[in-house]
Amino acid sequence: MRVVGSGVVDLELPPEHRLLKDAIRDFLEREVEPIVARHERERRFPAEIVRRIGELGWLGIPYPEDEGGAGMDTLAYAVAIEEIARTWGSLALIVAAHTSLGCGPLHLFGSAAQKARFLVPMAAGQMLGAYGLTEPGAGSDAGATRTTARFEDGGWVLDGTKRFITNAGHARTYVVAARTGDRPDGSAEVSAFIVPADTPGFAVGRLEEKMGLHASATGELHFDRCRIPAENLLGERGGGFPIFLQVLDGGRISIAALALGLAQAALDAATAYARERQQFGRPIGTFEGVAFMVADMATEIAAARGLVYRAAWLKDRGRPYRLEAAQAKLFASEVASRATNAAVQIHGGYGYVEEYRVERYLRDAKLTEIGEGTSQIQRLVIARQILNLRVI
Ligand SMILES: Cc1cc2nc3c(=O)[nH]c(=O)nc-3n(C[C@H](O)[C@H](O)[C@H](O)COP(=O)(O)OP(=O)(O)OC[C@H]3O[C@@H](n4cnc5c(N)ncnc54)[C@H](O)[C@@H]3O)c2cc1C
Repeated sequence: MRVVGSGVVDLELPPEHRLLKDAIRDFLEREVEPIVARHERERRFPAEIVRRIGELGWLGIPYPEDEGGAGMDTLAYAVAIEEIARTWGSLALIVAAHTSLGCGPLHLFGSAAQKARFLVPMAAGQMLGAYGLTEPGAGSDAGATRTTARFEDGGWVLDGTKRFITNAGHARTYVVAARTGDRPDGSAEVSAFIVPADTPGFAVGRLEEKMGLHASATGELHFDRCRIPAENLLGERGGGFPIFLQVLDGGRISIAALALGLAQAALDAATAYARERQQFGRPIGTFEGVAFMVADMATEIAAARGLVYRAAWLKDRGRPYRLEAAQAKLFASEVASRATNAAVQIHGGYGYVEEYRVERYLRDAKLTEIGEGTSQIQRLVIARQILNLRVI
């Protein structure tokens, strides 16, 4: 254990994780920090920074080297996302969606040929990936998937629309869920497919104007008689749900890490401001009303960090972690919303203007309570694991 900058007691990381964290921090401070505000204001995707991050090996941190990755673990990946989010939430979301959701299904379920063709260049940072599960009518209820895939003349033909897809328009490979039939009980048979962006019949639709995370792209995917070869089926036919559930379990750790990074950024900013800003002839941090907000932020962030690192640690040891990933995501995202809100409050009027960036942290943090399963869905996942009942 050791004490860091703003008085937070940090968990001691293994040396290689600390090296990675320091390298990311150094890169972000030098090359990224100066361009964040402009990209956010202009809602501009940071293509050049993403390319640099790929070159540095940070687009495939938890995957083996023979799959194009850096050969590190989930803890390293969580630390990286936390550190990136501390500077730029949008960039952290781009990297997390690519790594967990784009590469994750291929790592877990891809054949040797699929890994060689898609995962290796993605994890090596040469092309970006994305993941399309959500549809206009299927959000929390992924079973309501309407996009269809029909087997025709030796290939799959996809029709339908996906919504809210991170990295839309910038990814070159999309893993998508589509309905391949009905099961005997009437529920959807869902399968997973790999769709290269240059496939005829595939198009990126409208990009969203979001509340936060402005430099990340979130958009629609359209499939209009989009034909892909038979070998682009990922895993077994009808195996879509187990794939997506497993991928989301891992993805939740990265969204929790993203929330943690935003919360830490809010605490860092609030701490500095509470020490500097003078009112009534003294620093505002000397007023109990402000000091206790800082104390609560620091305490909750320490607890969230413990949950995030615990979920990563379990995953890295091959132990069950669905419950712990949901707990980490639920708690860290709600902490991020509270901490970023407190940071705005501590900044007073300055917190409400763009110049002081804490308003950006607050807008960005809200997404972490929604994406990859809302807080309500996390509570359902947690309750089901504990009660061993199907809570609805
Ligand atoms: C910026 C952004 C990026 C995203 N990136 C991706 C991506 O890359 N890929 C992808 O596939 N999706 C992505 N999503 C979609 C995201 O995962 C969904 O928005 C989310 O799962 C919620 O679905 P929904 O928006 O349809 O809300 P709904 O499911 O309609 O939920 C609306 C409300 O009802 C509540 N609710 C629903 N069901 C229940 C229940 N059973 N019990 C209690 N409450 C319930 C929800 O918690 C929520 O409060 C992204 C979304 C955003 C905003």
